Amino acid sequence: MTDPHSNTAPEAAVLRGVPKQLFIDGKWLDAASGATLAVDDPATGEVLCEVADASPADGALALDAAVAAQPAWAATAPRVRSEILRRAYEIILERTEELARLMTLEMGKPLAEARGEVAYAAEFFRWFSEEAVRIDGGFTTTPDGGNRVLVMRQPVGPCLLITPWNFPLAMGTRKIGPAVAAGCTMVLKPAPQTPLSSLALAGILTEAGLPEGVLNVVTTSDAAGVIEPLLRGGRIRKLSFTGSTQVGRILLAQCADAVVRTSMELGGNAPFLVFEDADLDAAVDGAMVAKMRNMGEACTAANRMFVHRSVAGEFSARLAERMAALTVGPGTEPGSEVGPLIDAAGRGKVESLVRDAVERGATVLTGGRTPDGPGSFYPPTVLTGVPADAELTRTEIFGPVAAVIPFDDEDDVVRAANDTEWGLVGYVFTRDLDRALRVGERLETGMVGVNTGLVSNPAAPFGGVKQSGLGREGGRVGIEEFLEYKYLAIPAGGRRG
Ligand code: NAP
Repeated sequence: MTDPHSNTAPEAAVLRGVPKQLFIDGKWLDAASGATLAVDDPATGEVLCEVADASPADGALALDAAVAAQPAWAATAPRVRSEILRRAYEIILERTEELARLMTLEMGKPLAEARGEVAYAAEFFRWFSEEAVRIDGGFTTTPDGGNRVLVMRQPVGPCLLITPWNFPLAMGTRKIGPAVAAGCTMVLKPAPQTPLSSLALAGILTEAGLPEGVLNVVTTSDAAGVIEPLLRGGRIRKLSFTGSTQVGRILLAQCADAVVRTSMELGGNAPFLVFEDADLDAAVDGAMVAKMRNMGEACTAANRMFVHRSVAGEFSARLAERMAALTVGPGTEPGSEVGPLIDAAGRGKVESLVRDAVERGATVLTGGRTPDGPGSFYPPTVLTGVPADAELTRTEIFGPVAAVIPFDDEDDVVRAANDTEWGLVGYVFTRDLDRALRVGERLETGMVGVNTGLVSNPAAPFGGVKQSGLGREGGRVGIEEFLEYKYLAIPAGGRRG
């Protein structure tokens, strides 16, 4: 195994410490074939380590374990499930530094952001530890008085959880937390670029007391080959997927065969609206968060910045000044504020979107040029005067590129903001409360940030409308995604029949 971090003690130690095998039925196992897949460092392009590369047979074994563990796990006392999550929350926080370093190594985000994600990820376990003991039901009498209706909630059953690479820890805890709280067993398949955070998480949950078989983790370079038979096989009762809309559509079709319930957290194309009466300081601060969190590699990233023509010049200049002042460099380096993009393909997509916008008439205020040297770095970039037909208005940029599009009229900008098949999140900056509510209600998105560039919070129902997804993660409804209703009809007065 090549280890470019062999000379840097903290990195070498976290890499050595993380398990690299499949986690099935409480045991760490090599892939049956012995195959491994390489995990790269996006800051250098070099291999960090190898992890087990599961085949469909390994995937089936993981599901066997989840299915076998389901009845006993469903019967566990809610308090027991709650306390396992609570312990795992505490262990994650105790290990913030090593988990953050691990995440930075495999994904590239600066250490400060990785620490933030560790805290955010842990919060899902705390939130759902509190929800585990609040699963309720109901009791009513039918209107004719003939029946009693006893409503109970039961775990949906063995789940398949599929996560993307951009938030390697939080996307896992946002699914595992409610599944554990609800009493479901699961197979987790993390993205092949960032399997290490999920493997570390499996170790932490084991330490916290999660019984064998409840969580199984399968890392693979053959996602389609491993996942499709599981979804079509009739034993999975629920798919919770976070990733692109394109892959989400494929998985929804595969779920149809066995009528598998789904939660789909898919892509976005967030509009960021700055009205003429906005507090421009707040709008620029909000834009920095909504654009630059995770180097722009977020489903919630502001993709189209619609700015009223009267303030577009000032907003763009101030944003460009802030963007140009950011320090770009390997996430492990102190002071780094913008790490590399996930890989060469991700950077290539950003480069081509910027080229297309410029060819169609956009102006580059800062950035826009790929640096020489190793790693998939791309500079913070501001484009102004982006025409409506630029490709980046119709696709997720997934990089540190702010595209400013001037507008004149509220109705027009709402129409333009909604002119997309996506509907995850929108942002509105205005000092006028009526306008904030009016526009917030009219935006076809699952979430709206009002004078803020950050909507993610474990206590809030995160999710999208239109082709950004189905269902919600977090909030009071997050656990619902992993519960079924059942009711018992009981004749009143002891009658039968
Ligand atoms: P992706 O290509 O859709 O992959 C997501 C996951 O699905 C990965 O684990 C991937 O593994 C797996 N996958 C791909 N094809 C599959 C198939 N045929 N069968 C089973 N699994 C398959 O997305 P990504 O590039 O990792 O992540 C970026 C996307 O996620 C963006 O669109 C972003 O907006 C979205 N996202 C949404 C949210 C949200 O909450 N709405 C949050 C974060 C990210 P392989 O890579 O091995 O194929």
